[in-house]
Amino acid sequence: MPSRRREGFWITTDEATSVRLANIRQKDTKPELVVRKMLTALGARYRIRNKDLPGNPDIANRSKKWAIFVHGCYWHRHEGCQRTTTPTSNREFWEAKFERNVVRDAVGTKALEDLGYRVFVVWECETEREPEAILHRLRRLLRFR
Ligand SMILES: [Zn+2]
Repeated sequence: MPSRRREGFWITTDEATSVRLANIRQKDTKPELVVRKMLTALGARYRIRNKDLPGNPDIANRSKKWAIFVHGCYWHRHEGCQRTTTPTSNREFWEAKFERNVVRDAVGTKALEDLGYRVFVVWECETEREPEAILHRLRRLLRFR
């Protein structure tokens, strides 16, 4: 997976936001919590565990119509990611199971988009490797800039 980090890429924030964001760059935080803390730092409002929305997005804002999935690389098959391994025994079983997950994700995304939602996927490994890039994309998603 090529890094999306680019040279000359910096996020300008006011001091208070920087302080709040400093707390989210820790390695052992759960991926979804990382994203939620970023959203809070950016001043976004959201609801979690949206069981009544298609695909059950982890984080969503109904009035602003955006939804975020925070995906574990293994179960949701992050393409090209080294965490996307397949067990060697019962391979067919696992491949079928993984395929169902991928299809379910695609169906959920499509259904949300049909409802006018902007859908955003954050991968577990990105929250550890490139939180600044996620933050940048979240800002765009939220139209903070
Ligand atoms: Zn990954």
